[in-house]
Amino acid sequence: MVNPDAVLQLELDTRQHQSRYRQRKLLQSPQGVEVLVDGKRCLGFSSNDYLGLANHPALIAAFQQATNRYGVGSGASHLVSGHGAEHEALEEELAEFTGRPRALLFSTGYMANVGVIRALMSHGDLVVQDKLNHASLLDGGFLCRAQFERYTHGDITAAQVLLAGTSAQRKLLATDGVFSMDGDLADLPALADIADQNNAWLLVDDAHGFGVLGASGRGICEHFAMDLNRLPILVGTLGKSFGTFGAFVAGSETLIESLIQFARTYIYTTALPPAVAAATRAALTLIDSESWRREKLQLLIAHFQQGAAERGIPVMASPTPIQPVLIGDDESVIKIGEYLLKAGFWTGAIRPPTVPEGSARLRITLTAEHDEKQLDALLDTLAMALKNIGIDSL
Ligand SMILES: *Cc1c(COP(=O)(O)O)cnc(C)c1O
Repeated sequence: MVNPDAVLQLELDTRQHQSRYRQRKLLQSPQGVEVLVDGKRCLGFSSNDYLGLANHPALIAAFQQATNRYGVGSGASHLVSGHGAEHEALEEELAEFTGRPRALLFSTGYMANVGVIRALMSHGDLVVQDKLNHASLLDGGFLCRAQFERYTHGDITAAQVLLAGTSAQRKLLATDGVFSMDGDLADLPALADIADQNNAWLLVDDAHGFGVLGASGRGICEHFAMDLNRLPILVGTLGKSFGTFGAFVAGSETLIESLIQFARTYIYTTALPPAVAAATRAALTLIDSESWRREKLQLLIAHFQQGAAERGIPVMASPTPIQPVLIGDDESVIKIGEYLLKAGFWTGAIRPPTVPEGSARLRITLTAEHDEKQLDALLDTLAMALKNIGIDSL
């Protein structure tokens, strides 16, 4: 009998020695500001539920009603018999929300990115991406069989050189809208320019922009007031600001029909439970009607940035609810995360390979449900933790 355990254990040991071992904490409450983690009450600063909708009564009610009406499982993929009235209605509403002719639901953002890139690109084509793109975009690049090139984060000139120096038939330029571990924005107008100049298709994954960016929450396109024609392929996820689960691609009639025919992660997987679609429709209504959530978030972001600067905390310059504090060393970030958790603050300790070597960080996320006092308390404790660990303040 050949057993893989001996070989695997060596890898696990290495990861442990590198301070990179991942361990899951147990969330014993709904997602929210006040959470119960491993039996301890604390303030949550690590979810992507930026608008505080994951446990909203309107979403819960919509979910329950749809479950009473349609049951739990969708029972099949969209193309077989799983495409229901709630999915169809949500797709129409997402198309309208994004200002596109059509939208198509995917089961997850990961699957949307892999599926879209693989459906559109193949042998002889070129895919160009920012090095800090989400793993799902990068994996799409690796899996699609096209030539795959990555440029240094934000280096538009490098992207331009890659796009210009090829004889490939089809070219795809793909980027995160908001970078998930840094919180900064892609320079979308500049990327759209070089896509235009080089006859490349532009794909933007706005997982962290929808609901948050732009006065009406339409994401990075609204933020930059972009002409939608300059941005033909738009990916969004529903597990972040929308507070539910799943993802979508928005674009032209022809793009969406192509994905229905050719995107393997769309075709060969079970449709979302209809109740998830129903709850997402309730979230869309709130994103539209309750702009105070976005406005409050902007105030909290400004308060956090200023409070961090006053205390000499090395927060990265991020205009989004993702507020990373750069620590550098893997072991230190774990220690600081544990110190904070003991003091009642749950933050994310992010290490390589999720982020580049030497750039381990605390990933602090804000939501519209936080208040300034809670942010101050976190910042005071974090300043203390940094002092204890011996990390020099700015
Ligand atoms: C979270 C995220 C995804 C993956 O979405 P899931 O629905 O969680 O699979 C894709 N892209 C980006 C930029 C993300 O942050």
